[in-house]
Amino acid sequence: MSDCNSCPSKGKCGSSSESCGKKNNPLNKVKKVIGVMSGKGGVGKSTISAVLARTLKNKGYSVGLLDADITGPSAVRLMGLRGEHAYGDGNGNILPVESKDGIKVMSLNLMMDDENQPVIWRGAMLSSCVTQFWSETLWGELDYLIIDMPPGTGDVTLTVMQSIPLSGVIMVSLPQDMVGMIVTKSLNMARMLNIPVYGVVQNMSYVKCPHCGEKINIFGSDTSSIVLEQGIPLLGELPTNADLAALSGGSGEVSDPEILQVFENIVKTIE
Ligand code: ADP
Repeated sequence: MSDCNSCPSKGKCGSSSESCGKKNNPLNKVKKVIGVMSGKGGVGKSTISAVLARTLKNKGYSVGLLDADITGPSAVRLMGLRGEHAYGDGNGNILPVESKDGIKVMSLNLMMDDENQPVIWRGAMLSSCVTQFWSETLWGELDYLIIDMPPGTGDVTLTVMQSIPLSGVIMVSLPQDMVGMIVTKSLNMARMLNIPVYGVVQNMSYVKCPHCGEKINIFGSDTSSIVLEQGIPLLGELPTNADLAALSGGSGEVSDPEILQVFENIVKTIE
């Protein structure tokens, strides 16, 4: 990003457009950076980031996953990397850790001795950590870098959106008015910063009866206000599903063809 006109801090930050965008490591060549975003926490950003990374990898792309949710990191568990550590290369760079399916991952939990220890940092520290994950991690050549964004429209989200050249973002929402309202804030933030929004994924949209296959819309409707009112494309609806939930334990596969189809649609949109 080098466009000060779209920046909410325009005229107040003291930096020029040339000094604002964080340059990537010259050893990194990342073709597309995709943010997975939502104003709300707990809606499935990390789960969707992980499955999207795997779907892209299965299609033959080289993929990285940057966990920008510094205070609530989930990528390590979702990618089956619990107990792994990231180390430096001796030249000031950080080496990402590769999952068993070959996805390069960077997350603060790869640097913690104890994953249960909280990170109690102010915004500036959190933001600096994310920019380091971008510019000091040796991502190498990647077709896609997926960024699991933090919830909300605060400091770190702003840093990611201003410092990292996002190709676009995918919004994750639930088909419920209150969540839709908060996700709309994120959507408007992306619009204000001129970042393309590929569309919205409605997570936990329904539950499928294991006996008859009937879809039960637990939130009472199958689309939320964000799709209807904001006119952004609906990339797909995901069920509340045991296989998706199990991924957070670091194991398991998603096999439901309807779920896989949603991820195929997302891939087609970002390709
Ligand atoms: P976020 O990154 O937005 O905070 P997570 O991906 O960590 O959200 O998901 C929050 C919780 O909900 C996790 O425990 C995850 O396993 C679970 N979860 C997310 N999506 C689904 C789904 N479609 N079905 C079942 N559980 C889900």
